[in-house]
Amino acid sequence: MQELTHYLNGEHVKGTSGRFADVFNPATGEVQAKCPLANEAEMDQAVKYAMAAQPAWAAVNPQRRARVMMKFVDLLNRDMDKLAEALSREHGKTLPDAAGDVQRGLEVVEYCIGAPELLKGDYTDSAGPGIDMYSMRQPLGVSAGITPFNFPAMIPMWMFAPAIVCGNAFILKPSERDPSVPLMLAELLEEAGLPKGIIQVVNGDKEAVDAILHHPVIQSVGFVGSTPIAEYIYGTGCANGKRVQCFGGAKNHMIIMPDADLDQAADALIGAGYGAAGERCMAISVAVPVGEETADRLIEKLVPRIEKLKVGPYTSGKDVDYGPVVTGAAKANIERLVQTGIDQGATLVVDGRDFKLQGYEDGFFVGPHLFDNVTKDMDIYKHEIFGPVLSTVRAKTYEEALGLAMDHEMGNGTAIFTRDGDAARDFANRVNVGMIGINVPIPVPLAYHTFGGWKKSVFGDLNQHGPDAFKFYTRTKTVTSRWPSGIKEGGEFNFKPME
Ligand code: NAD
Repeated sequence: MQELTHYLNGEHVKGTSGRFADVFNPATGEVQAKCPLANEAEMDQAVKYAMAAQPAWAAVNPQRRARVMMKFVDLLNRDMDKLAEALSREHGKTLPDAAGDVQRGLEVVEYCIGAPELLKGDYTDSAGPGIDMYSMRQPLGVSAGITPFNFPAMIPMWMFAPAIVCGNAFILKPSERDPSVPLMLAELLEEAGLPKGIIQVVNGDKEAVDAILHHPVIQSVGFVGSTPIAEYIYGTGCANGKRVQCFGGAKNHMIIMPDADLDQAADALIGAGYGAAGERCMAISVAVPVGEETADRLIEKLVPRIEKLKVGPYTSGKDVDYGPVVTGAAKANIERLVQTGIDQGATLVVDGRDFKLQGYEDGFFVGPHLFDNVTKDMDIYKHEIFGPVLSTVRAKTYEEALGLAMDHEMGNGTAIFTRDGDAARDFANRVNVGMIGINVPIPVPLAYHTFGGWKKSVFGDLNQHGPDAFKFYTRTKTVTSRWPSGIKEGGEFNFKPME
C-alpha cells in the first residue's frame, strides 16, 4: 500500500497526524493508496515555510517570475501522458479527458506568462502641481487554495499559477480522493525554477481546511467544491478577515428550442451530460425542450445514443466514453437520487441501474440514466446528482424554459440551442447565470476570460483566472508623490538585463 505525502518546503514529508484517507482505484474498488490528513501543527509548519520564502520571491521581478511559468508549461507538456495516467488512475476519467484536465490548467499558466503586462500599474503624470500619482499591485503574502476531486490538475493550476506569478506563496489543500497529481505539479514547478516554500501541498480534510481558515498569516482562500462547503468556507474565512472566493455546485440547464438542429442538440447533450460520468460542474444535467413535439423528437434521438455509450476503465483506451465515479459513496448517492426520481413520478426512459462490467464488478461504475417528465418539486431536479443522469423537464414556451433556469438556486452555466439569433440574444441577456452557451453545451470560458457562476454557485466577487485572478491575488497601493528639484546624476550606459 502506497503512503502518500505532503510536499513541504521542497520535500516530500510523511504525515504525522496518524490519520489517513483511502484513495481508491475507482475501476476496481480497491484502495490503492493512503492519503495523510494534516492537523493544525502540520499546516502551521507549511505556513512558516511559506512566510520565510515569500518576501524574496515577491522581490524577484515579474518577468523572471513569468519565466518560471514558461518553463513550467514546457514541463507540463513533457509529462502530459504521465500526469494524465496518474489522474485517471485515481479519478477514473478517461485518458483523453484527463489530458484535457491538465491542458485547461496549462492554458491558465500560459496566460500567467503575461504577468509583467498584467501587473503593470496606473500612472497619472502631474495629478497636481509637481505631483504624480501611481498605483501598484502588490502580492498578498501567503495564499491558500482548497480544491475538489473532479479536476485535480486544472483547478489547482487555476489558483496557484496566478497566485505565484503575482509574488505570493501558495499552500494547496487538494481533494483527499485524488491527491497524486497536485503533488506531481508541485515537483514540476520547482523543477521549473520556483524557490522552495513557494508552492506547498498539505493534504487533508476538514481539519486542515479549518487550520487554513483560522490561521492569522494566511491572507486569502480560494475554494472550489460543493455549495454547502463553499458557504461554510466563505463565511468562516470572511469572519476571520481573509479575502475569500468560493465556487460551488451546479444544476446546468440546456434549453432546446423547436427550431434547433436536434441531432446537434442530442450529440451535445450526450457529451455534456454523460462525459466524465457527469462529474463536471459544467455538466448539463437538465434538458429543457420547448414544446411537446421538440421533447418527443429529442427523446427519440437521445435514447439510441445513450444506449451506445461505452462505459469502462481508462485502461481500455479510446474505446471508452466515460469511466467510473470517484467513490462507492458517490455511486450510492447517485443511486439514492435515481430512486427518489422513480418514487416521485419521473419517467425513467433509460435505466442504468443494473449496469455491470465483467471483471470490474466492484468498481464504481454507474450506467447512463435518462429521465423524462421531471418536475420542479422533485429531488432529482432540485439537487446536484453529479453522475451520469440527465433529467428532461418539458416546457410549453420559451418563457417557461427561461423561468426554469432563472428560478433554480444554482447558476453556474446554461445553454440554449436554437437557430434564432433573437431568442439566443434574449436568453443571454436575461438569464441570471454566469456562463452561457449558444449552441455550445459546456461554455467553459478560456484562460484569458474569467470563470464563475451566479447565485448559489458562487460566494465572493471576483471570478477565477483571467484578469480577475490578478486582482484577487494582489492588493492595490496608490502613491501620491511630490519631489523638490534636485541634482541630476550621470547616466547608465550599458545595455543589460534587469536584475
Ligand atoms: P467537496 O465540497 O466535497 O470537497 C471540496 C474540498 O473541500 C475538498 O478539498 C475537501 O477536502 C474539502 N471539504 C470537504 N468537506 C469539508 C468540510 N466539511 N469542511 C471543510 N472542507 C471540506 O466537493 P467535491 O466532491 O470534491 O467536488 C464536487 C463538487 O464541486 C460539485 O458540487 C461540483 O459542482 C463542484 N465544483 C464546482 C466548480 C465550480 O467552478 N463552480 C468546479 C468543480 C467542481
